[in-house]
Amino acid sequence: MKKLLGKQASSGIAKAKSFVLSYNNFTVKKIDNVNVEEQLSKLTDANLTAEKQILKLRETTAKKLGEEKAQIFDAHIQILKDPEMQLQIETMIKNEKINASFAIQTIAEIFKQIFLSMDDEYMKEREADISDVTTRLIKIVDDIEIQDLTLINEPVIIVAYDLTPSETSQLDPKYVKGFITEIGGRTSHSTIMARTLMIPAIVGVGESIKKIEPNSTILMDGSTGDIIINPSEETVIEFEEKEIKFNKKIELEKTFIDKETVSKDGWKTKVAANIGSVHDLEGAISVSADGVGLFRTEFLYMGAQSWPTEEEQLEAYKTVLEKTEHTVVIRTLDIGGDKTLNYYKFPKEENPFLGYRAIRMQLDNKEVLETQFRALLKASIYGKLAINIPMIATIDEFLKVKGEFKRLEIELEAEGVKIGEYQLGIMVEIPSVVALADKFAKHVDFMSIGTNDLLQYTFAADRMSPSVSYLYQPFNPSILRFINTVITESHKAGKWTAICGELAGEPMLAPVFVGMGLDEFSMSSSSILNIRRVISETDKNAASLLVSDILDLETEEEVKTRINKFFVEHNINL
Ligand code: PEP
Ligand code: MG
Repeated sequence: MKKLLGKQASSGIAKAKSFVLSYNNFTVKKIDNVNVEEQLSKLTDANLTAEKQILKLRETTAKKLGEEKAQIFDAHIQILKDPEMQLQIETMIKNEKINASFAIQTIAEIFKQIFLSMDDEYMKEREADISDVTTRLIKIVDDIEIQDLTLINEPVIIVAYDLTPSETSQLDPKYVKGFITEIGGRTSHSTIMARTLMIPAIVGVGESIKKIEPNSTILMDGSTGDIIINPSEETVIEFEEKEIKFNKKIELEKTFIDKETVSKDGWKTKVAANIGSVHDLEGAISVSADGVGLFRTEFLYMGAQSWPTEEEQLEAYKTVLEKTEHTVVIRTLDIGGDKTLNYYKFPKEENPFLGYRAIRMQLDNKEVLETQFRALLKASIYGKLAINIPMIATIDEFLKVKGEFKRLEIELEAEGVKIGEYQLGIMVEIPSVVALADKFAKHVDFMSIGTNDLLQYTFAADRMSPSVSYLYQPFNPSILRFINTVITESHKAGKWTAICGELAGEPMLAPVFVGMGLDEFSMSSSSILNIRRVISETDKNAASLLVSDILDLETEEEVKTRINKFFVEHNINL
């Protein structure tokens, strides 16, 4: 029995024989003095074959996983036909008189490096698409067999260097019980697809994955990243018990799809989704999220090579608004801190998290502000729009923002553009806003508490620094008092309050926020059904008493103990 550990990518437990995929990360031999014409014609033929194969994959994926997932293959066709890449490959074959497959590999490496050097995790992962397309091309040119995963007809766990989107789309969950990869992260395609197919996945296992021989018995737990090779009888039993528990939890969660979010005693609230792109909306809809509580628009900027235009932004906002009947909270650009752009030079600062970030930067860069604000105003007619401003520290800043929206509304109306209704609110993530919550509440339409930043600024502990991570204390009464103050003051002014930081998805805090009367919990889609369940098992009156108790405590530990007691007394499972 051997144990390996990887990153959790898609939860669930599986036991099956390993199916080890041939290593896709191969190197191609360079051949000099080739017949150039012959190589060019091989390249042309391979392009045609690859196009046919990709279109076929698109068709099967659309049938199996839906149109949205199939669109990845449109991107593959675009990569395949990318004129710049094609030109560079052809030029290399002609100039250096080398074999087509070596030229494809060399040029692909250059393009892959460009994506890998991007700061944004999502864009980094797009390197996998270039790799997928160019590996296909190389295999066709060199006549290497492309493994057909649709032929798998017995239960297996796939073990691979990485699963390309085209490989993932061939997986039949009836036989493929899970997969394990050497590389990859939480935003890679294979991970996203695994969650859609609801099969367990573990990624980023590293070189030790090579210890897995074909046909070994594998146990995997996607929720912990644990992999056991050739397990003992005892471990198998232990995993089977875990599996039964997990399946029960999932079955229970599923019963909360399409249900209202309501407490045990009938008090209504909302669980909304945090999204980073138009694509993420699909996951939110699949768990019947009560709207979008945070659309982080910075990913539109981080994924681009230059400032996204008004039209490009409008397209993204419009798509999200049109796809849901609920309110969509779109947050204006939150760049700076740890999020940078390839095409913009931020000033060098000692403490970027306390520096030129989000609205501070936008108020200073009028063109960037106007482009986004105009796109948002234009989008207002397509659904229920709420605009959220990050990193507001003072009333003056908010009034300036409000003034800009008013000015741009007039400008757009003069251009004949129709503007719909929209709400304008702020992220509460700086303690100065908590201190003046009653005053802010009069000016805003809503407040959304960004607990990730509010925690770091409250405890003065950098959220990226491991050495002060002990100060990440979400159960500390100080932060809970802050949250309670914001909710209470906004309610006094008749405004609604959300939490869109990670704490909204923390099940142990759900009864606390119910007790405080939180109007919207916004979180990643994968947590929605569980939080909806905990809320449904919570009695609001009892939760209010819990809140008065914990706000009077002194330490995190005391709060945790009190909350645990609540879960036990009310028979709520975590
Ligand atoms: C937050 O700070 O809690 C938040 C939701 O914003 P971000 O994590 O994007 O800074
Ligand atoms: Mg924040």
